[in-house]
Amino acid sequence: MLKDHWCNELRRQHIGQRVTLAGWVHRRREHGALIFLDLRDRSGRAQVVFDAGTMPEAYAVGQEARPEYVLQVCGTVRPRPADMVNPDMATGEIEVLAEEARILNPARTPPIYVHREPEEDINLRLKYRYLDLRRERLQRNILLRHRVIQFIREYLDREDFIEIETPILTRSTPEGARDYLVPSRVHPGCFYALPQSPQQLKQLLMVAGFERYFQIARCFRDEDLRADRQPEFTQLDLEMSFVEQEDILNLIEGMITALIPAVAPHKRLLTPFPRLTYAESMARYGTDKPDLRYGMELVDLSDLVAESNFAVFRGAVAAGGQVKGLRVPGGASRSRKELGELEAIAREAGAGGLVWMARDAAGLRSPVLKHLREEEQWALTARLEAQVGDLLLIVAGRRAVVAAALDALRREMGHRLHLTDPDLLAWAWIVDFPLFKWDEEAGRWDAEHHPFTSPKEEDLPFLESDPGRVRANCYDLICNGWELGSGSIRIHRRDVQERVFRLLGYSPEEAQERFGHLLEAFEYGAPPHGGIAPGIDRLVAILANEDSIREVIAFPKTNQAADPLMGAPATVSEQQLRELHIAIVG
Ligand code: ASP
Repeated sequence: MLKDHWCNELRRQHIGQRVTLAGWVHRRREHGALIFLDLRDRSGRAQVVFDAGTMPEAYAVGQEARPEYVLQVCGTVRPRPADMVNPDMATGEIEVLAEEARILNPARTPPIYVHREPEEDINLRLKYRYLDLRRERLQRNILLRHRVIQFIREYLDREDFIEIETPILTRSTPEGARDYLVPSRVHPGCFYALPQSPQQLKQLLMVAGFERYFQIARCFRDEDLRADRQPEFTQLDLEMSFVEQEDILNLIEGMITALIPAVAPHKRLLTPFPRLTYAESMARYGTDKPDLRYGMELVDLSDLVAESNFAVFRGAVAAGGQVKGLRVPGGASRSRKELGELEAIAREAGAGGLVWMARDAAGLRSPVLKHLREEEQWALTARLEAQVGDLLLIVAGRRAVVAAALDALRREMGHRLHLTDPDLLAWAWIVDFPLFKWDEEAGRWDAEHHPFTSPKEEDLPFLESDPGRVRANCYDLICNGWELGSGSIRIHRRDVQERVFRLLGYSPEEAQERFGHLLEAFEYGAPPHGGIAPGIDRLVAILANEDSIREVIAFPKTNQAADPLMGAPATVSEQQLRELHIAIVG
């Protein structure tokens, strides 16, 4: 080794020892005959002193060194003078007097400052990701990611799970996104699909008798990108045989409850994780991934205003919609400007507007007050349990719009009122999802989770007659307003799977062509099975207090799905295209 100690390892007890360090020049300060250099390696930093008087040869190297030069330093650990002790640095009590030093490799002036917080444009950061990743924050994040994955592997191994790899070059498995396709050279005109998830393969592993499988699996989904999306991402993919929903929930809840104190001991979590049905979650929060760190629940006011003189309220209810509201404790003093911003948020979510009411000591204040009869006003404030000083936010319209707008307002107020403590983890399970959702655009039923999710036994009779009312054996894991993973108990019978395919609009021939392998496998003794796939990127991001999963992925893509460092995607040669039987059109 070119080094015998980590920089960050050195403490008072090393004083007097001769050590060899190797790493990068973090910062350099010159004070006449002395040069102070922070040498950085993966562990952290140590101060190295170059003294022109006593060690002139080493000093010459110190003089030449610049930020990000790679250096090897051999020297003796000594205490810092009392006034130079740095209590903010783990190695702040000592320094190393360089006796010998060697530049292992010089560096050009870096285009981004490694010793500063990442604040440059993401494209620049990703183009020089190898420099960006040298930053303490990113090093910490990537290390945390390693710890999380390591913990999971050990935990599941103890629970008798087997880690099994599944192919990256495979056949399309629908998870609601477009496929990434890879052309086959050997089979002209044929394509592999990169897995949107290993869903079918893990089910086949259950048919194959492994009973407990997991994989730290890469998934590929070509979809419109948002801040929290990446074209490829990592899941803890997991499947078990001979289980019921309860078994999967308990396993994952146990794992997470053990994981958090092990990797992020400063985080608090409440156990057991609460469980909400999908219907309950939508009614109380307007979303299936509510942030449960705070209250401000949605309250249905429709029955109170069905006969209102206020046409907006009356009209919404008459049209089969809803009027719902939430109470912002202590929000009455919000400014006109803020109320305008809140209205914009409601409109952004599709609402026609926002009705606000402030409850002051003098009574109610609201632009719509004159339209509401006095008893109506009292009924509304009573239902919303308004206290003096509270603000009420009310939205009227179609069910979905009311839900979306109030969800957005609730989240916004959660932030504005500082109720989103990042060290509190509000995990929960959302259960009893509907099996299907109606796709307005396509005019057909779509799988709420994926086509392999089983309907609840008692709802099976309505599969064809009333698909919208069929509930699924499906569950989501949520935390602090994020969906952290979905799973389900699967269909393991050919006849049920065929009925679901038919409802999703696959003709028997199409179903056979696309999923014949699975249908056939179900005829050879498929055990009852189910699983889940928590997202690793989002989990690590939450534990690292990062808003974007990019900060916890070594080489993420931009929101244009590009990798500026490797220059991907890229054009390929005519020759390669010819081999792949591909012609570029247009
Ligand atoms: N394959 C599912 C997904 O990627 C997870 C699961 O059902 O286990 O969301």
